Amino acid sequence: MKISIASGKGGTGKTTVAINLAISLQECQFLDCDVEEPNAHIFLKPTILTTESVTVYNPLIDDEKCTKCGLCAEACEFNSLVALPNTIIFFKELCMSCKACEFVCPEDAISEQRFCVGEINIGKAYDSIEFVNGLLDIGIPRGIPVIQKVKSKIKNNSIALLDAPPGNSCPVIETINETDYCILVTEPTPFGLYDLTIAVNVVKSLGIPFGVIINRDGLGGDNSVEEFCKKEDIPILMKIPFEKEIAKAYSEGKSLVEIMPEWKKRFQNLYAEIERRVKFNG
Ligand code: SF4
Ligand code: SF4
Repeated sequence: MKISIASGKGGTGKTTVAINLAISLQECQFLDCDVEEPNAHIFLKPTILTTESVTVYNPLIDDEKCTKCGLCAEACEFNSLVALPNTIIFFKELCMSCKACEFVCPEDAISEQRFCVGEINIGKAYDSIEFVNGLLDIGIPRGIPVIQKVKSKIKNNSIALLDAPPGNSCPVIETINETDYCILVTEPTPFGLYDLTIAVNVVKSLGIPFGVIINRDGLGGDNSVEEFCKKEDIPILMKIPFEKEIAKAYSEGKSLVEIMPEWKKRFQNLYAEIERRVKFNG
């Protein structure tokens, strides 16, 4: 069972849901795919056992063989290669590792070199939670390979919880793609509703069954998220109230189930409900 936890915007409580679900289940894998700003480790406090670097393909031009014909620069869709009369300049930050340059080179002057874009950390939290997070190197716009490496650690025989990055862009799609169920976490405000509608379109287009959790329920007294879910026939799986005690715990790096143990059963029930829905859809 692979469950992704996403939200149309940051700060809605996505990680709160993900970590509390993990702590309540215990026997699971937790994969923090928010590789630009991972923060689940603050709450799960894992012991990191191994670190693996994430590398991608970069072209290496053999100056002896290169005739400066410029065909590689013409083929590069990402302006990563620029042909000047006497040299070819390569901007590694722009390269998307498509290998088109190597494919078109008539002199066989391009070979592979590996470029490090980040790392993943693997460890244990709360004794039985297998923890993995990814960390993209600063200034490198290549989150997808890091997310792919995090996801490569998913085991077939376990429950995998994938904490997605905020927003609705490519890294989110890479995270939630091929998961069995997606939890969309939102807040009951017009901003929350706006971003939720976009996120709903994304998960629908990927054909992933999904439901909504409303965090900070009661904030501002706006009912538009619930009305939207009712109109679209989207299940509301859980509501987490807007309470000072919960916000305080979050700011101190504590989980909800730690300060209010009665929530453990609620998160276990949430998993059972998702399992039932996945089986039912299948
Ligand atoms: S296509 Fe090959 S030979 Fe031509 S400029 Fe590029 S590397 Fe050099
Ligand atoms: S691998 Fe693709 S993106 Fe990178 S330099 Fe070659 S053509 Fe451009």
